[in-house]
Amino acid sequence: MADVTESELVVIGAGPGGYAAAFLAADRGLQVTLIDPAAKPGGVCLHVGCIPSKALLHAARLITDAREGEGWGIHFDAPRINLDTLRARKEKVVDTLSGHLARSAKDRKVNYLQTRATFAGPRELRLESGGAVRFQNCIVATGSSPTRLPHLAVDSPRVLDSTGALALEDVPPTLLVVGGGYIGLEMGTVYAALGSKVTVVELMDTLLPGVDPDLVRPLANRLKGQFHAIHLSTKVTALEKVPDGIRATLEGEGVAEPKTTFAKVLVAVGRRPNSRDLGLEQAGVEVDAKGFVRVDERRRTTNEHVYAIGDVAGEPMLAHKAAHEGKVAVEVITGEPAVWEPRAIPAVVFTDPEIAWCGLTETEARQQKREVRVARFHWAASGRATTLGRPDGLTKLLVDPESDRLLGVGLVGAGVGELIAEGVLAIEMAATARDLALTIHPHPTLTETVMEAAESLHGLATHLYKVRKS
Ligand code: NAD
Repeated sequence: MADVTESELVVIGAGPGGYAAAFLAADRGLQVTLIDPAAKPGGVCLHVGCIPSKALLHAARLITDAREGEGWGIHFDAPRINLDTLRARKEKVVDTLSGHLARSAKDRKVNYLQTRATFAGPRELRLESGGAVRFQNCIVATGSSPTRLPHLAVDSPRVLDSTGALALEDVPPTLLVVGGGYIGLEMGTVYAALGSKVTVVELMDTLLPGVDPDLVRPLANRLKGQFHAIHLSTKVTALEKVPDGIRATLEGEGVAEPKTTFAKVLVAVGRRPNSRDLGLEQAGVEVDAKGFVRVDERRRTTNEHVYAIGDVAGEPMLAHKAAHEGKVAVEVITGEPAVWEPRAIPAVVFTDPEIAWCGLTETEARQQKREVRVARFHWAASGRATTLGRPDGLTKLLVDPESDRLLGVGLVGAGVGELIAEGVLAIEMAATARDLALTIHPHPTLTETVMEAAESLHGLATHLYKVRKS
């Protein structure tokens, strides 16, 4: 008979959701087993997602900032890129952070098992490495994987998913990016800065479908100067191997050359939950039509001993959402009255300019026919944005017309990923626009744009002037 060990809590998947849950559970005194096929905790986000992509986007920003130095009278030579050093630096970032996590798991006495687990019954997991674990409670935090389109499935090292693109094997002279979403635009930005001619093909009639159009516009305008081409409302109907690359067939209005050969292709058309091949049916854990594990507001699945968090448990597929859900699940397990009820989950697209939003968006307000007051502060009126040479930003607030409560924040501009947290806190604390207007923000900073947008709703704005109609 196979070895069976006992564990108070098993967490399957050591990404930002799984390790946050495992660490909190250990801190609360539970005996925790954390299972993942990777050698160290971190998951997709740390190993082949958020972190390496941000390291490469930092390098891309160095290149574009140096180029834009010309406008300030500072001339640098064209960059000489040592790809081995860049790749090694990116890997060092990942190794440093995953090393911290591995040490933290050890210090907390979390039993880390490097293997795959599948359910063998309602309270038992079978391990690929041999043996089984019986648990009192289990948290499924297995994340998501890139969606594969069968008609674009070509067995070639020239066709990449996000992991392949992050490996940065070379800088292809031409790169086709299929999908104008988060990954397509972030990785397109990296490769364009390194010297690739990047073509983006997006099925819908806008980049970043679903994001408010006034936030997307400044990014789209800047990308037009950085990318070779952006084709909207366009499909890639076929990819085929040819001697010097991959020939893509594009179908859409305004495509001048429907058959074009690219040195490499990145397919980034979304992600799907990793709920298959887990034996969830053995444990009585139900999934919905899209494959997300069904959970209630306490992250409980249809098995009372099994919880699910992160990408596998529903949209939005964001690391910070997973980490917070993980903490809720652990608090429920340890008997605390925790529920998952965020008023605002921030989203950030780390392009240049960045786009960030939280709470209600203008698009959603329109769909819901919900009346809102909208304040827009264009960064051309911001002292700080002008000193940075980046007046192409916008700060937008959505406010309830009766209560003056802040409902949503939308931002586009250099570095707005660092600004959105103020909006999240304000919404969580039920702040009004007047609260934001009366909060003294430091000058000269981009944070003032949030205050000035709020001031504009109360006739207090200094740098915006509108002649009253009556
Ligand atoms: P996405 O959903 O952001 O974008 C996919 C895009 O592909 C969409 O715009 C969609 O319309 C388009 N598309 C779909 N089918 C297509 C087709 N056949 N041809 C052309 N375009 C097509 O997905 P993603 O960029 O793959 O990223 C996946 C998820 O990963 C995101 O939803 C996000 O949750 C997460 N992510 C987050 C960040 C971040 O937080 N900064 C970064 C990267 C990824």
